[in-house]
Amino acid sequence: MRIDLHTHSRASDGTDTPSGLVRAAVEAGLDVLAITDHDTATGWAEAADAAAAHRLELVSGMEISTRHLGRSVHLLGYLPDPTYAPLAEALGRVLDGREARVPTMIERLRGLGIDITADDVRRAARGTAATGRPHVADALVTLGVVADRDEAFATYLGWGKPAHVDRYAVPLVDALRLVGEAGGVSVIAHPWGRGGLARPDEETFGELQELGLAGIEVDHQDHDAAVRDRLRAVARNLGLVVTGSSDYHGAGKNDHELGCNTTAPEEYARLLDLARAASARSGRATPAVVG
Ligand code: AMP
Ligand code: FE
Ligand code: FE
Ligand code: ZN
Repeated sequence: MRIDLHTHSRASDGTDTPSGLVRAAVEAGLDVLAITDHDTATGWAEAADAAAAHRLELVSGMEISTRHLGRSVHLLGYLPDPTYAPLAEALGRVLDGREARVPTMIERLRGLGIDITADDVRRAARGTAATGRPHVADALVTLGVVADRDEAFATYLGWGKPAHVDRYAVPLVDALRLVGEAGGVSVIAHPWGRGGLARPDEETFGELQELGLAGIEVDHQDHDAAVRDRLRAVARNLGLVVTGSSDYHGAGKNDHELGCNTTAPEEYARLLDLARAASARSGRATPAVVG
């Protein structure tokens, strides 16, 4: 069983359509795939239809942009009811913040002498609800300003670079509560990753567990072997679920091929058990695992 629990489609900043993502997962030999676009569930329906046709097991999820102690934290929420109003409102605030910062990023880039317009970014965003820096990066690639997303982040869009603009993120504590109330389970994505500046320790994970955290994404390309060992030990000590995933973005992220990291079947089974329990507690109609 090959299980990949963190991937992106064009519903956010991946480059495959949701059905294309499912096809790519089948071709990569995966048995279970979670679609986890940033701050939106808009890719779920198309992915579920494709998964049913291809007999791939599909887990509906989302990667929520949160903040904790002033730092960016990505929280994977699996199988929550996306229509739960307080969760939908929180995601709406993030999506509004994503839209609102685009003109500022464009202004900054234009101030650097780059002839980029709102239309360039809109075209690159291809109708996503969750416009992100990667779409601005794609517009810069199309304009011939940079070679790829990596260069765009390194030169203009990354933290501390001239066109970096902050946006709203959900307080982590609220996001943990909302995912639980919506009948889903939470896993912290790439907690020691390059983008996440926090590096939570065992004590912090213990506190987050009390607030509803179910697991840690241990096996991720941003974590070297030593970091993985450390996080695995933390998860074992606390009884948290251990996941491993690609964080695939199609052509949008190098070295994140589907299945490059996977989740052990017994850990996946624990996650589903916890999701079932959360769903029962919430009394909400949570999405089924398809396939
Ligand atoms: P945003 O959510 O708009 O602030 O953009 C952050 C997203 O950009 C992350 O979730 C990654 O998917 C992506 N990202 C960050 N750094 C890079 C990079 N160097 N190359 C490609 N994508 C990146
Ligand atoms: Fe992304
Ligand atoms: Fe992330
Ligand atoms: Zn991701």
